[in-house]
Amino acid sequence: MSDLTALTAVELQSALAAGETSAVEVTRAHLDRIAAEDGVLGAYLHVDDEAALARAAEVDASGTAGTGLAGIPVALKDVFVTEGVPTTSGSRILEGWRPPYSATVATRLQEAGTVLLGKTNMDEFAMGSSTENSAYRPTRNPWDTDRIPGGSSGGSSAAVAGRLAPLALGTDTGGSIRQPAAVTGLVGHKPTYGSVSRYGLIAFSSSLDQAGPMARTVLDAALLHEAIGGHDPRDSTSIDAPVPTVVEAARRGAGGDLSGLRVGVVRELGGEGAREGYEQGVLDRFAEAVALLEAAGAEVREVSCPSFGLALPAYYLIAPSEASSNLARFEGMRFGIRVGDDGSRDVDEVMAATREQGFGPEVKRRIILGTYALSAGYYDAYYGQAQKVRTLIGRDFSTAFDGGVDVLVSPTSPTVAWPIGARVDDPLAMYAADLCTLPASLAGVPAISVPCGLSEGLPVGLQVMAPALADDRCYRVAAAVEAALGAPLTDRLAERAA
Ligand code: GLN
Repeated sequence: MSDLTALTAVELQSALAAGETSAVEVTRAHLDRIAAEDGVLGAYLHVDDEAALARAAEVDASGTAGTGLAGIPVALKDVFVTEGVPTTSGSRILEGWRPPYSATVATRLQEAGTVLLGKTNMDEFAMGSSTENSAYRPTRNPWDTDRIPGGSSGGSSAAVAGRLAPLALGTDTGGSIRQPAAVTGLVGHKPTYGSVSRYGLIAFSSSLDQAGPMARTVLDAALLHEAIGGHDPRDSTSIDAPVPTVVEAARRGAGGDLSGLRVGVVRELGGEGAREGYEQGVLDRFAEAVALLEAAGAEVREVSCPSFGLALPAYYLIAPSEASSNLARFEGMRFGIRVGDDGSRDVDEVMAATREQGFGPEVKRRIILGTYALSAGYYDAYYGQAQKVRTLIGRDFSTAFDGGVDVLVSPTSPTVAWPIGARVDDPLAMYAADLCTLPASLAGVPAISVPCGLSEGLPVGLQVMAPALADDRCYRVAAAVEAALGAPLTDRLAERAA
């Protein structure tokens, strides 16, 4: 077969099932492309050709290739621990660490017969929106290699958009699946909090972290979602409920009929209530996407969510607070590097030296911020207030969903991908990239980003948010948008390169 890296997971599935190709061939095609392109893109932190090919040969020998995801290569963000495979979370402090166990989602993908291509680059401990906070190297956007691929799952987005993997997993704490998907022309879904296991996911902010799929099409994302979702007794926040029927919803949505669906345009996010900070090209594509939904039969109205405007400050207190506690485990004793342990320093000095060298500036900024917000005397004024705002944001969602809309929509990101370096010295400008994604994170509700066109040649994403456990609605609406646009947006990237 000609170019196996151009195929979607669904297309690979049928080619494998028909015996037109093998898992080894598919894997080799992706490894070759990684060898050719990743020097520029920097999507991967770790690739093991031999292990991937051996695994693919095993799947071929088992005769299962083409059933479900068997024989299909995947890339995992380096935040997922993988037994025996280097895992750094984008940080120097974990350099050289090989975890003794695997994340539940990694185990589930292994059991499904997928082939692990490698671990993808990310902002250190998933803190960032551009992947420039990686301690190793920046990742570049395949649409324009002078621009960022989004973050923190920017290695995964660049890998899938650049056809260095058909599928990848990311994690989303405040937008880190949706925003990188949006700026690279992919589909990315943040599942309902608690519906995908967090076991073996290196914690950033435990009440927000959620793993999810990134793919070039809605159906591909749904297949990956189904493979990783569902209850896990090893995660105490895991919901004991069936995985929403996302694959069925993606297929149904592709029919293009949304009659009966009630859509709310969030006034404060790209609706009439918010024009500042949004690029005109993004607002134009968003308006066109809303018109597409209407043309597909949906009933559209504007909905006000007055507390959404407070999501940014609330998130940037809650997430650093939890991070300051979660990151206390990196003290140079149990994992990764140890600095200054030459017999002349006591244990506190070794810990301090390890953390000083092992953590980058953004991680230190968050630890300090979080420690401050949690300290006696400031707790009520900062952390406590942020938690109250979080409750109000949840109420805005309930009011909207109880008040007669099935989904809420907004742009995923207020801007397209910006030039590498443009925001590195301005943390607040970096944080502003999360404006639209944070409300769903704080409320724990599912949200998808689906491509809705280009602005100045760069991808724009539409965000679709639904009530908790109604992830299928996100997929249904996204599939209808995808069908209306005719072809996956990344096809245009491939045409441009050809
Ligand atoms: N950009 C946000 C942050 O820096 C979100 C990150 C994420 O979702 N992991 O915290």
